[in-house]
Amino acid sequence: MDERIRKFMYGRYGSDELYRFHLILYFITLIIGLFVKSKILLLIQLLLIALIIYRPMSKKIYKRSDENVRFLNIKTKITKPFINIKKNIKDKDHIYKRCHKCKTTLKLPISLKRGIKHAKCPHCGNRVTLFTLKKEKIEIITSKNKK
Ligand SMILES: [Zn+2]
Repeated sequence: MDERIRKFMYGRYGSDELYRFHLILYFITLIIGLFVKSKILLLIQLLLIALIIYRPMSKKIYKRSDENVRFLNIKTKITKPFINIKKNIKDKDHIYKRCHKCKTTLKLPISLKRGIKHAKCPHCGNRVTLFTLKKEKIEIITSKNKK
């Protein structure tokens, strides 16, 4: 059985990030469908099911891969402003802040003393203002324009 599935999927695209996004979207429409009866919602669900079945089965691997890359580009554009917020929630020992001049993300240490502090961006020399900073070495996390 397992071997048959593997043989069937050979040369086919398989799942990717866009596939998982379609699945999540489908389940969201299912939940909405519990409360709202709509023909448009049903149409969206059918379209999503078609995509969920068709894309992984497709043998046009390059086309599907292109779709996924386009999706990931859009996803990155949407989630980019929230990346530092997510990092700040996860990492309790540092503050992640973007330099407004060169758009570099800086990892700044948290000081025990509260107050407005200034740090110098190691990349462009711009002054970054933030709260609770101890004088320590500043790390560069991401940098767009390399020198
Ligand atoms: Zn900078």
